[in-house]
Amino acid sequence: MSDCLFCRIVAGDVPATVVRESPRTLAFRDIAPQAPTHVLVVPKEHYDDLAALTAADLDLAAELVRDAHRVAVAEGIASSGYRVVVNTGPDAGQTVPHVHLHVLGGRALGRLG
Ligand code: AMP
Repeated sequence: MSDCLFCRIVAGDVPATVVRESPRTLAFRDIAPQAPTHVLVVPKEHYDDLAALTAADLDLAAELVRDAHRVAVAEGIASSGYRVVVNTGPDAGQTVPHVHLHVLGGRALGRLG
């Protein structure tokens, strides 16, 4: 989708700090980090949200989870702990309609809610 921000990052048309790449996924630093480590893991193929992704390709969903953990290992936060968040839809505050996993860590993140 040419008007999708994360599709444009995947295509290399919008700059991003890429930390990991696999044939079907890309991980890059969030432009407005909420923690010392804040990386987004996205599928290269466009899916609007988690509902669309899981309906279409559970293997790809698993690859994204695997890569989120691999990012945490590479960032040195796997032992101290990290959080993986997928905002889906308006109540969750999803702002970019291309499914993405937030990998957050590097400080105590506090309880959810
Ligand atoms: P969400 O609110 O869950 O849809 O998350 C979207 C995330 O994308 C936010 O944390 C933004 O800071 C991040 N973001 C927006 N534009 C860019 C960009 N050009 N490069 C990296 N991250 C971005």
